[in-house]
Amino acid sequence: MNLQYIRDHLQQAYDELLRNILKRNALDNLSFIVKQIYTLNGVSAVCLYRWDGDFYERLILYTNTNANKLIPDKIFIEEFENKQQYNEQCPDRYWITLNTDHLLLLTTTEPVGEASLLFIRSEILNMLDVVHGKLDEKTQYPFLYYLTMTLFTKKRKAAIVKIVINTFMHFYPKCKIQLLLSQDTNIDIDFPVEPIAYNDKQSMNSSTKAYISGEVQIEKQSDAVSNLFVPLTGNQGVYGVVQLLGDIDCNLTEREIPFVTNVAQTAGKAIENASLMEHSKHHISELKLINDVTHHLNSNLDLKEITEYIRDKIRELCQAQEIGFIFKNGSEDVTILQASTDYFHQPDSLQFATFLLEQEKDATFHGNYHFYTGLPYRSLLVIPMGQGLDVYGVVVIMHPSTYFFSFEMFKFMQSLIQHCSLALFNAILKEELQKAVITDDLTKLYSRKYLEEKIIQQREITAEGSLILFDIDDFKKVNDTYGHHVGDDVLKQVAEVIHQYSDHSAIPARWGGEELAIYTPNKQVAEAVALAGKICNHVEKMTNPTVTLSCGVSTWQNDLDDSVSELFIRADRALYKAKQMGKNSVVQG
Ligand code: GH3
Ligand code: MG
Ligand code: MG
Repeated sequence: MNLQYIRDHLQQAYDELLRNILKRNALDNLSFIVKQIYTLNGVSAVCLYRWDGDFYERLILYTNTNANKLIPDKIFIEEFENKQQYNEQCPDRYWITLNTDHLLLLTTTEPVGEASLLFIRSEILNMLDVVHGKLDEKTQYPFLYYLTMTLFTKKRKAAIVKIVINTFMHFYPKCKIQLLLSQDTNIDIDFPVEPIAYNDKQSMNSSTKAYISGEVQIEKQSDAVSNLFVPLTGNQGVYGVVQLLGDIDCNLTEREIPFVTNVAQTAGKAIENASLMEHSKHHISELKLINDVTHHLNSNLDLKEITEYIRDKIRELCQAQEIGFIFKNGSEDVTILQASTDYFHQPDSLQFATFLLEQEKDATFHGNYHFYTGLPYRSLLVIPMGQGLDVYGVVVIMHPSTYFFSFEMFKFMQSLIQHCSLALFNAILKEELQKAVITDDLTKLYSRKYLEEKIIQQREITAEGSLILFDIDDFKKVNDTYGHHVGDDVLKQVAEVIHQYSDHSAIPARWGGEELAIYTPNKQVAEAVALAGKICNHVEKMTNPTVTLSCGVSTWQNDLDDSVSELFIRADRALYKAKQMGKNSVVQG
């Protein structure tokens, strides 16, 4: 076997060992490679110790399947004690004394030359040193290289810190290792972590000094190094301090400083790297989500669909209990959009919504909100929506627990809602425009055109329906007596009463001039007459100046061969009759 071949393979063994130095099976890998290089049957090493006058042994590495056979018996051990060479008596096995504590056994079918045996002995001795936490110049840098490679592949800060602790524990087994982290570093690690003590009033201790200066601090006891404080330094800051607290016989010297500094700096940079990765990953996933949401919102949805979609996304992302969409409608009116959750549909929530719109001009994050008496929610994210400088509404996200939402979540919600803001604004405009087209400006009731279209539609899907036509009695007089603007106001008052008496299926409309109407699907004529009567009574009581109404009611049923225009004509005739009969009455056509 040529020496170069052996050297190459031993280099591999070193590499393997340095790569796995912090793992339990480092020795197994080592002995396996040695076994391969020398085509041995087996390699085993035992650690020998005397106790009570007797020799005992502990197997520390082996490659044979049947390990027991390779443990030397006591006579053998005594015979070879302190003998620094192989046994010539048995050509199939070689007992080699490594040092006073360790004995190496090689089993082989072929004799191994004396030079090779001595070579193996010295190499294994070196490797045992490494395994037992001693690095020399030759092994230190390869180890740091492997450590750097390992640390930079870790994505979690905790994993990096763990490796650093293990490294120090391995190389300084007699030192007490402690980890101090700055308070803002949250880390999930099963190793006791202490915060770095920082107090202006106290004189700074070595760990704090290490943290602030980013330099290794040394404490000496009668000229020997007793404690080392090693900062985990990255390019942008110091992430913590590892303390190596030694006693007299733990062999800490100033020669260790370059090594521990190297380890700590590598760790600091790896931590920095991991946090940057975490942050950018987070940002990417947030951007992706915002992109998905805006993409969805651009797909021509109406206001209801948009708000429901945003509501569900918010609920999914931050587990909010209540979400409200509050809008300014004109200069004073506050509207709570339908997609808002239950709390916002309770009677007194409008007051809270008005309060919020007045109070919150900027996005605010509340962990323990108590500015609004009686509100059962403590965590609030209030995010205004606006176009340019104009705030047109707020989204409020709530949970009963205190400090339920994280600040990051608040920031994310803010950017999500900002991105949705334009789509929402457009949807509101669109809806307002649609409403304006079908709404009469003065009375805010539907237009006649819309009423006619709806009756035609309803006729297709309902079995019956009634039309009530109202005409204000002697309205000319109101105009003549109080002026046209009072006339307008009275018309609004009457419209308001009609609006109040219209349930969700009814269609209240301005028929024209001072004539108003309600179409009620699925109502029989008697019910419609009763409704008209109630409205007349209410109008007489509530209007100022007082006016009365005359009403004509007509009805149709599916089985009658009846056209929509006939329904109008009949109602009009009935109304005319009511006028003839002395006004302020309801007549059925
Ligand atoms: P009656 O219906 O009882 O027979 O008498 P009237 O005085 O109400 O008579 P009529 O229905 O013929 O007159 C309607 C009047 O309503 C005429 C018009 O000046 C007025 N009017 C119609 N539209 C408006 C409006 O938008 N605002 C105001 N102020 N007046 C209106
Ligand atoms: Mg009239
Ligand atoms: Mg009239």
